[in-house]
Amino acid sequence: MFPDFDYAARLDRARDLMTEQDIDVLMLSIGADLPYFSGYEAMPLERLTMLVVPRDGEATMVVPRLEAPRVDRRGGAFKIRPWDETEDPIGIAAGLAGKPSTAALGDPTWSVFLLGLQQALPRAAFVSATRLTKGLRIRKEAEEVRWLRSAAEATDRVVTRLDAVRFSERTERDISRLVGTMTLEEGHDLAAFAIVASGPNAASPHHEAGDRVIGTGETIVVDFGGRHRGYCSDTTRTFHTGEPSAQVTEAFAVLEAAQAAGRSAIAPGVSAEAVDRATRTVIDDAGYGDRFIHRTGHGIGLEVHEHPYIVEGNDMPLEAGMAFSVEPGIYQPGSWGMRVEDIVVCGTDGVDELNRSPRNLHIVD
Ligand code: ZN
Ligand code: ZN
Ligand code: ZN
Repeated sequence: MFPDFDYAARLDRARDLMTEQDIDVLMLSIGADLPYFSGYEAMPLERLTMLVVPRDGEATMVVPRLEAPRVDRRGGAFKIRPWDETEDPIGIAAGLAGKPSTAALGDPTWSVFLLGLQQALPRAAFVSATRLTKGLRIRKEAEEVRWLRSAAEATDRVVTRLDAVRFSERTERDISRLVGTMTLEEGHDLAAFAIVASGPNAASPHHEAGDRVIGTGETIVVDFGGRHRGYCSDTTRTFHTGEPSAQVTEAFAVLEAAQAAGRSAIAPGVSAEAVDRATRTVIDDAGYGDRFIHRTGHGIGLEVHEHPYIVEGNDMPLEAGMAFSVEPGIYQPGSWGMRVEDIVVCGTDGVDELNRSPRNLHIVD
């Protein structure tokens, strides 16, 4: 399912960082770090799957025997140690780890496994594997950008199709299902979410599509995405049934200008928080500052939310290859809401826009 990357080279880079940071073993279970290094995603179930990467030894994937046939060895970057139902997988993983002083454990690893490992390796200090993986995953390889672009293009085609859809007199849930179906039809392996927030619900940024029937003269925030070959998509467009009021039109012009200002601010060396300020300043200056209640964006890749976060306080300089969303919104509680979201990549001398569907207020029936 995941593309064929050079997993052995990625493991080598992780080992270099382990040497620099004096970490003896890297242990990865569920979550996105595992497929980043192996092309394999663990089932989030009670049976342990764990890739054990000793700094000075061969990497081994500890996997339930019944799931071992799903593991593709990816050019021999790691060995497989299938475990039987009567074996103790924690003991096996601990044995492969050796006698580490410091072990880096994947962030989403279940605490029950950490507790077991702490007992099995009483002398080891456990630290977050994000120390090793953040710096690698945050800069996308050209091939990763290609997959992110193809996922974004699929969602752009969905937006185009939605322009021809009648929204009014249908429920949010009905439109949400339609968006999910279209996302799959356009080539995604998974339609992960489709927020459809109409009328006053649009003022709730993460509204769950429900039974509300969409009326005329309403804004509808449609925020959706999924995965294609392991890489995530996430885009938002705002629709409107019938002609918008002067107030909505005016606010939307501010939003579009803010979102454009965010995209234009992107370049290597510019801080993540400067991109947040670029969108926020436009909205503040127009008097809607207290109506923009979330950060400007989040990184995206194997996960829909990952580093870098585009938020005040993150002074990390952007680098070529960083992929993230630019998604300011303006929310008027009780009345309406609007958001425009694109996935972009920081290029060598400016922004590379992955989403390109029209960002205007989409007038629909
Ligand atoms: Zn969101
Ligand atoms: Zn989104
Ligand atoms: Zn997003």
